Amino acid sequence: MPIRYVLYLPKHILREILNEATSLGFVEAYGVIGGYKLISEDSIKLVVKARIPINKFSYRKYFVLDQVAWINAILKLKKKGLKYLGIYHVHPEGPPIPSNADLHMMLQCPGEVWLIVSLEDASCCAYYVPTFHAKHRRLDVELI
Ligand SMILES: [Zn+2]
Repeated sequence: MPIRYVLYLPKHILREILNEATSLGFVEAYGVIGGYKLISEDSIKLVVKARIPINKFSYRKYFVLDQVAWINAILKLKKKGLKYLGIYHVHPEGPPIPSNADLHMMLQCPGEVWLIVSLEDASCCAYYVPTFHAKHRRLDVELI
């Protein structure tokens, strides 16, 4: 039986992400998500407890990950006692499917979760690349 891999996302965090992308002018708002991992025989559960927005170089159709701000955001999560889970970003237009640029960045950070939120209908999807040179896979997202 395949292992179930799930990201548990609090509804208030989803709402904050959507509000932020709207208030910044319908841009690809982004930041990091942190929380904890529950690993059992048949599942890996990632529970999101916090997000740290970055939003530096966020534009309407893409964002450029600011590496210094990214590291600082990860350190902030660690100070809160949380594990770094990955990156979130918003697609102001279109579905929460990774773009070629997203896939390119995702391949550089295997194991990290990429949560993508669509501003059109508030839908969200999460992806990860298990190892270097592997194809991206989707995880289930459950709103809590
Ligand atoms: Zn994207």
